[in-house]
Amino acid sequence: MIQDKYVIRQQNESIVLKTIIENRTISRAEIANQVGLNKASVSSIVNDLLDKQIILETGIGSSGNSGGRKPISLEFNPASGMTLALDIGYNYVNYALAYLDGTFFIQEKLETSITKHNCIPHIIEIVNNLIQKMPKTHHGIIGMTIAIHGIVDHNHIVFTPSYNLDQLDLYLQLTNYFEFPIFLENEANLTALGEFTFFQSIDNIISISIHSGIGAGIIQNKKLLHGAHSQAGEMGHTILYPNGKLCSCGNHGCLEKYASNRAIYESFSQHFGLEKANSDNIVDAISNNDHYTTELLNAKTKELAVGINNLALLYDTQLIIVNSSIFLKLPQFLEPLKSALNSKFTREIDIIISESGDNATLYGGVALSVASFLNIESVQFAKIR
Ligand SMILES: [Zn+2]
Repeated sequence: MIQDKYVIRQQNESIVLKTIIENRTISRAEIANQVGLNKASVSSIVNDLLDKQIILETGIGSSGNSGGRKPISLEFNPASGMTLALDIGYNYVNYALAYLDGTFFIQEKLETSITKHNCIPHIIEIVNNLIQKMPKTHHGIIGMTIAIHGIVDHNHIVFTPSYNLDQLDLYLQLTNYFEFPIFLENEANLTALGEFTFFQSIDNIISISIHSGIGAGIIQNKKLLHGAHSQAGEMGHTILYPNGKLCSCGNHGCLEKYASNRAIYESFSQHFGLEKANSDNIVDAISNNDHYTTELLNAKTKELAVGINNLALLYDTQLIIVNSSIFLKLPQFLEPLKSALNSKFTREIDIIISESGDNATLYGGVALSVASFLNIESVQFAKIR
């Protein structure tokens, strides 16, 4: 019975806090009204949250036009703690130190090849540097999220096709080193969570990360979908050509062997006899009206559309967000993508290019740590941005 009371209290605290965040500013009476709790319960929960400095009182004692006292408003206090988010790519670490509402205090990128051996030393050095520059807050660092480009199952790295971090026990080693909670999550999942939490105020989103591979993060009815083996959204390994190129996953003809940015760079550099290529080379070629590159991007866009079509139909989503440096720099290719998704089923679905680019993943990292610290699920700061 005591346990039940405690659980109910926790649940009510989560509901009250979520209501404060998603309203930006709200009185105790309005909270009671919105969530259907009595005023005494709301007041008691609010007092606890004030004690923990998670929320603040604003507008104290000011009077309204009618001459009566205006009720005291409550607001979330994003500066009560800080959070760290790191995105570990195969040739970079993008990272941020942020307040609890996703406002970055520091955001930087280190360009370096990541291996099993240098991964942990890089993380420790970056984090120790950030800690030295961190402003003083009541709770200090409330958590750190690390984005991995591969399959991550309950903080355990399972498969990383674009670099080799397989079986590296990042979670255990970092948990032993740092005192704050650590979270490991798939990069595309975090990107979707970042878009949902901080930028898109809707309940069903598919965010497609196109880099060296292609991964999708699926938010369905406000929840991130993981699946039984944390493999939900691995659209890069859905089969486009059954007798196609062999993929590191063991299948033939996987979508990412054709439509990922890496596949585009490979075709491009092969055609022009270059050692390697990146999105800037593609942008230059397009701005010079290069016929081959235009045709290449049109063809790759059509292949990508097949994967998007299949995923959109499986999950009946409201919004598809494409996160790709090529699309970000060449937004005109969104039109051929949209034209290729013009069936009875897909034409109503919005497709946009992510404006936060690589940082969307960091926002997702912030979202994951903050949700755990505050013990709230599916909160949407997007509603007040
Ligand atoms: Zn594959």
